[in-house]
Amino acid sequence: MRPFVFINVASSVDGKISNEKRIQLRISSKEDLKRVDELRAKSDAIMVGIGTVLSDDPSLTVKSDELRRMRIREGKEPNPIRVVVDSKCRIPLNAKILDFSAKTIVAVSEKADFAKVKKLRDIGVDIFIAGKDKVDLKALMNYLYDRGVRVLMVEGGATLNWALLKENLVDEIYVYYGNIIIGGVKAPTIVDGVSFDRPIKLELIGFEKLGEGILTKWRILR
Ligand code: NAP
Repeated sequence: MRPFVFINVASSVDGKISNEKRIQLRISSKEDLKRVDELRAKSDAIMVGIGTVLSDDPSLTVKSDELRRMRIREGKEPNPIRVVVDSKCRIPLNAKILDFSAKTIVAVSEKADFAKVKKLRDIGVDIFIAGKDKVDLKALMNYLYDRGVRVLMVEGGATLNWALLKENLVDEIYVYYGNIIIGGVKAPTIVDGVSFDRPIKLELIGFEKLGEGILTKWRILR
């Protein structure tokens, strides 16, 4: 069993999610950031790849006091569980995602630096070990389901999005196109990795103008 999984991503009109220096760029409008905060508040867990942690250092918490209060009224923690996919356990000990505002699970593989794993455990971080080289994403989904996660939001980046789609572990993808063009052949796109043998077919389930950009919602067809 696995949770319902959706990817949420902000893209430039040319499909880039950052520039070639992998510096975090403002792509979303304030209206979109509000929508993203609402999505976070409705999720049981939020997942990112280690590449995103290293380049953006996100905290992945719910920003609105009202939304955090709403979660508490529903008997939940104020913030969803944060999940980092990090085979070798490269996560910096001072990463914002390891602060005390929410629980964090770091998923590693057998290639992980086990001294670092111990350090993380010592500061109260949950570690999930699965996979020989890379993190076994199917096993991770199972584990999250067993921990009560029913709705999982994925916030990138390009490589994790690709790996999850490749493993058929995604139900829906929401792409917000901001009104910018980034360019750059090496800039990360919504989905990197290598091309799929057969393109993944999608069903358009919604679209709307939001701020100066457009939100598109897609269901993955199997
Ligand atoms: P990423 O997708 O965040 O993380 C990828 C890393 O995850 C891999 O390199 C790998 O590193 C690790 N990993 C562990 N197990 C894996 C598995 N089974 N399959 C795939 N990866 C696995 O990194 P990224 O592709 O470099 O993307 C980061 C960029 O995306 C940044 O520039 C960031 O700003 C941007 N971003 C943009 C948005 C947006 O919405 N605009 C959102 C998020 C990120 P190890 O082998 O070391 O474990």
